[in-house]
Amino acid sequence: MKKYIADSAVFIMGNCPVAAADMVTIPQVEDEMKSEDAALRYDLSKAEGLMVEAVVDTFTDAVKEQAAQTRDIEKLSRTDLGVLAKALEYKEKIGDDAVLITDDFAVQNIATRLGIVVMPVAQRVIKDQIVWQKQCIGCFRHFKDGEECPVCGSPLRKKMKKKVSQKPKTI
Ligand SMILES: [Zn+2]
Repeated sequence: MKKYIADSAVFIMGNCPVAAADMVTIPQVEDEMKSEDAALRYDLSKAEGLMVEAVVDTFTDAVKEQAAQTRDIEKLSRTDLGVLAKALEYKEKIGDDAVLITDDFAVQNIATRLGIVVMPVAQRVIKDQIVWQKQCIGCFRHFKDGEECPVCGSPLRKKMKKKVSQKPKTI
């Protein structure tokens, strides 16, 4: 069974699709609940089964070591380090079933380097993308770009190929 390690953003943003009962966080996260909404979400999550576990120092040390190599350590708060340490602890226990939920790029970077699976808080939906290409007005062949058809020499005109609707990224 998957276990999700929750960054403070999970409660600050409030649109995380993961059930509270599948989440674990660290005590320091509570200090970052500055808004009433965030504090309420945090309390509600605890009531719904969110686990709050203390950070184990040995894992913090391992995270610091990794972060120091990339200079990300300057960007990481004590809470960031703690959340990473908790994620690393779970990774040792359950491998890829340990998923760190965070939107922080420095945290994501370190997590990836430590081999921890990362998931963004909000599953952003990328809007439809229009793909343009060129079509020859003479022979109707399609090309990526250019002004003149390399086959028949007729002019190329811009043509909308398709709309690409990307699905949100899932684990
Ligand atoms: Zn042509």
